[in-house]
Amino acid sequence: MSESLVELARIGGGADGGVTRVAWSPELFDAYAWAGERMRTMGLEVEIDLAGNLIGRWPAGRDGSSAVLVGSHLDTVPSGGRFDGVLGVVAAIHAVALLKEEGFEPARPLWIAAFMDEEGTRFNAALFGSRAFAGEDVTDLGERVDAAGESLREAVAAAGFDLDQAGAANRIGEVGAYLELHIEQGPVLEAEGVEIGVVTSIVGLRGYRVRLTGEANHAGTTPMGLRRDAFVGAARIALELRDAARSREAVTANVGKIAVEPGGANVVPGLAEFTIDVRATTTADMVELEAVVGEIVARVAEEEGLEVDLLASFSLDPLELDPDYIDVVERAAADEGATSMRMPSGAGHDAMIVGRHVPAAMVFVPSRRGISHSPEEYSSPEHTELGMRVLAGVLRQTLVRD
Ligand SMILES: [Zn+2]
Repeated sequence: MSESLVELARIGGGADGGVTRVAWSPELFDAYAWAGERMRTMGLEVEIDLAGNLIGRWPAGRDGSSAVLVGSHLDTVPSGGRFDGVLGVVAAIHAVALLKEEGFEPARPLWIAAFMDEEGTRFNAALFGSRAFAGEDVTDLGERVDAAGESLREAVAAAGFDLDQAGAANRIGEVGAYLELHIEQGPVLEAEGVEIGVVTSIVGLRGYRVRLTGEANHAGTTPMGLRRDAFVGAARIALELRDAARSREAVTANVGKIAVEPGGANVVPGLAEFTIDVRATTTADMVELEAVVGEIVARVAEEEGLEVDLLASFSLDPLELDPDYIDVVERAAADEGATSMRMPSGAGHDAMIVGRHVPAAMVFVPSRRGISHSPEEYSSPEHTELGMRVLAGVLRQTLVRD
């Protein structure tokens, strides 16, 4: 396992220890070649589908029996870590190798997937491959451009694919279950001293753009009681959102971008434009949170004498994972003698797309200091090996039934 991770970290590896394999890049396809070769050597049928997903298939069972799909991604953010995504693919390969060594005979097909562009950093088209695999239309993302001005459609073509054919990657109807091993990308498991995280839900997200309009005026001559200060309104909203998130379980709120105008040290800001990002792990919390955002923004604007324009810019619903598979993962962890705990995932994953169509399970291993998307990202060989063994255990339990 560790050797495989080291070998893959060399593909796109930089001097800072980070790995850069962005979507549709030659480095990503080099990583596909490495993983494809490993799967072929084990006797799997390997292809890159028309959405740029690397798929390996272990055919088994009678005609029409649904596959168990084990997946994650080999793409990274620029100068990203050596574990995010790649661990799930490498562990799937090693778990299959383990089952084959044991002479395990699956009663249904097993597929391994490395999904194209999970990260979305290049074109802001996150989860491209799993969306296409699950039958969502991805062709409307074609006009999105990267930092160099190249469109997604052009990058897809440069890699030898045709965006208009990506719909043919839809194979979700042949899949009956989805499993993903991933690093936690957060500090909880390490802090709790627990080896395996059994993921219960994947966080949902609402993004907003807010525009507050007050009145720009002289900073010295305008009495405090008569100001319509757009920045103060934005600041109050940020603080109230923070308090609202703090007073709830597994909810976050973030104001990550703000611009004020006219932008003079001696001018009362007449305009503030900012973003809001709120996340929750259950549908009920998400619905409540939407109302909270609306109430806080409207009330503060009113109190500060500001006009408000609140625009919902991004929406992804939370996904609650399958209760039966949560039990299966817990049993598999116990079988390996591992300590485990149930937890939500604060980051998005391919499982949140595929898991809307078929029962899905996710397994987490600890991330040192919770750091991810960085050369500092690290999970120990003991934990990654254990995660792989738990994944193999889940496969032993799911591949026997049809
Ligand atoms: Zn990932």
